Amino acid sequence: MISRRNFLKKTGLFAGSALAAPALAGSVYAGAGHTKPGKRMTFDFRPYEVRLKHVFTLAAGSRTTTPVVFTEIGYDGHIGYGEASMPPYLGESHATVTRFLENVDLSQFRDPFHIEEINSYIDDIAPGNYAAKASVDIALHDLTGKLLNQPWYRLWGYNPADTPNTSYTIGIDTPDVVREKTREASMYRILKVKLGLDTDREMITTIRSVTDTPICVDVNQGWKDREFALEMIHWLNEHNVVFVEQPMPVEAIDDMAWLTERSPLPTIADEALQGPSDIGKVHGAYDGINIKLMKCGGMRAAHQMISTARALGMKVMIGCMIESSCAVTAAAQLSPAVDWADLDGNLLINNDVFDGIKIIDGKVTLPERPGIGVVPA
Ligand code: MG
Repeated sequence: MISRRNFLKKTGLFAGSALAAPALAGSVYAGAGHTKPGKRMTFDFRPYEVRLKHVFTLAAGSRTTTPVVFTEIGYDGHIGYGEASMPPYLGESHATVTRFLENVDLSQFRDPFHIEEINSYIDDIAPGNYAAKASVDIALHDLTGKLLNQPWYRLWGYNPADTPNTSYTIGIDTPDVVREKTREASMYRILKVKLGLDTDREMITTIRSVTDTPICVDVNQGWKDREFALEMIHWLNEHNVVFVEQPMPVEAIDDMAWLTERSPLPTIADEALQGPSDIGKVHGAYDGINIKLMKCGGMRAAHQMISTARALGMKVMIGCMIESSCAVTAAAQLSPAVDWADLDGNLLINNDVFDGIKIIDGKVTLPERPGIGVVPA
């Protein structure tokens, strides 16, 4: 096991922290109550910036870094790790997450297993701020899993053998670069392509000149006309595309219902929904939902969303942001229960500070570690 002190030393992220590093006990007190007299939860966080290996381009623009914030909840010698990732289009930033997390005081809670109570306290601090909230929820899940010495997939009753293949994103670029990136991605069983520009057909045919691997497409609201969207989907259907994510703008809910009724491919809502209470809004207009911890506020909400979507007969996909292995591995704990996974955010960066999820032969492979399954890299 790697102690927090080593994590601090290695990453330098928490340098200068006023909090004393608690000693990490290897002990497990499974079966016992977890309210330890005199024990308090400590909470700490630090901003960080993940660097992309390649420039990331989608319909909304390009970028080379993503701001994240790492969190730690300490309790009785154990540390739970969490992360907030803030892609610009969701409106959170280092400044907003820091401001939010400065208000978090977990010392008032005696038992980290009171997740409902702690989450509603976090929720009441301020509306929105889903990434900030997710960073606390993830750390809390990591901590409680460690206290039980079990990974969350196990606590939820999932078989880790049921994890799906993850898609791997091929970024929009010149045909030569796209061909090269596609060849480099030969270990993946499903590719993801960002569409919604005037190069859509060129992107697909370029990839198809290299491989027949199934493709899922994410339009990021890029198609404004439903007839055009339907024509594109029919064309994509002839090119071994498996589903279409967020083809039209969020507001175009009636157009989406029209499109989904006629589409030969499943349609998936991403930007059109945030958390559990939004599923009713997209039900009937889309075939499925894309759940992301940074949108819904964490693992607990994500788990609830899977149950709700299944009860409504909807498809479920789990996605991520550009973020470290911390948040991606947390999301992966839920992946045995979904139809599709898009868990490549950590693969796209070159300064990861955690070790967790592995992709083996294209398949999401969960670490055999308690909690969310990560250790500082
Ligand atoms: Mg998307």
